[in-house]
Amino acid sequence: VSRYWCEWAWLGGDLPTASVLLTVDEGRITAVEAGAAAGDATRLHGLTLPGFANAHSHAFHRALRGRTQSGEGSFWTWRDQMYRVAETLNPDSYFELARSTYAEMLAAGYTAVGEFHYLHHGPDGKPYDDPNAMSESLLAAAAEVGIRITLLDTLYLHGGIGPDGSYLPPNPVQRRFSDGSAAAWVARIGHLGTDGSRVRHGAAIHSVRAVDPAAMRVVRDRCGDGGIPIHIHLSEQPVENDQCRAAHGRTPAQLLADLGILGERLTAVHATHLTDSDISLLGTARVTACFCPTTERDLADGVGPSRHLVEAGARLAIGSDSHAVIDPFQEVGAVELNERLVTLIRGNHSVRSLLEAGTNNGYAALGWPEGGRVESGALADLVTVGLEPGIEPEHMMGWALFGTTTVGATIVAGEPIRTSTE
Ligand SMILES: [Zn+2]
Repeated sequence: VSRYWCEWAWLGGDLPTASVLLTVDEGRITAVEAGAAAGDATRLHGLTLPGFANAHSHAFHRALRGRTQSGEGSFWTWRDQMYRVAETLNPDSYFELARSTYAEMLAAGYTAVGEFHYLHHGPDGKPYDDPNAMSESLLAAAAEVGIRITLLDTLYLHGGIGPDGSYLPPNPVQRRFSDGSAAAWVARIGHLGTDGSRVRHGAAIHSVRAVDPAAMRVVRDRCGDGGIPIHIHLSEQPVENDQCRAAHGRTPAQLLADLGILGERLTAVHATHLTDSDISLLGTARVTACFCPTTERDLADGVGPSRHLVEAGARLAIGSDSHAVIDPFQEVGAVELNERLVTLIRGNHSVRSLLEAGTNNGYAALGWPEGGRVESGALADLVTVGLEPGIEPEHMMGWALFGTTTVGATIVAGEPIRTSTE
């Protein structure tokens, strides 16, 4: 049993609470006592929040930081640069990249990551001797630094949709992503380990560009109705919407609806270029829309309709995706700030709802519904941020989200990963 005393803690309301004593046992918060003395508990000075969930990560994209931000181009030219990195990686270098990326996440206040993993095979597209060698590299990297991980093993079959609406074969780099068939993907992920105390497994459909409807049904059936998360890149670029309409006569969101894939266990990553009908479908199904604003602006993707999605019933989460920036406070703040730039209206999302997007919505989207809250029974994943001396309680959460945030402590499953405020 360990105990932490928080100078201030956000317990889920509109205001933080002073002098909160947390008791932690076997990775869970077992008691929350407000107005308590610190005693011999570890002191956390500043504002303690639930740790953030990075609901969308491609760990290896971090190798592109600084390399892709200059020059001209589009999402598609960025993708060519990303493919040049993908073709050089092996299980050892994948591990090294993931380890440094996950360590940076912990330092920034993320305590859980959803790894949308599609770089499965060797450079020629042939499986490694251990066909899950690349997946194991990610899990080993997460275990070494201590971050909680949901491995979203991703089905990727096709190189895109051609002008005549048919699926194209994968190009030489994309062959590393493809299992060849949905059945082979099912067989491979069947050999992955089971869930652990800091590991859970979900699945992902790369996109409507890379997976045909019949194969999407296989993912749906593989995950069943038991709450296993399914993630998909949805409508990141207008071109993929056009291709989907040409091939299937409907938008990507409508296609997923017709396949019975929309639902609470689905996370639509990006959800950027949507029709009013798409927004209604995603909202009614209570899908989680994962926004990745620092990547979406870097890749010239656009700004998704976050406020309309919430009003329709969808939940928001956040991810750092390509890791051009790893900072949950920037990511969450940008959901609101981007909306302001588009609508010329301030205050589209409350500070509280933005914090919920970054924490408990993201945990739920990664298959950890018991995480992302500071309450008895919840996972003891916490982050403490510094505060301006004397700042009023009603402004503390806004300070944390929209100011320059200093992370003091990060705690996963009750264990300090990083503490500098004791
Ligand atoms: Zn992505």
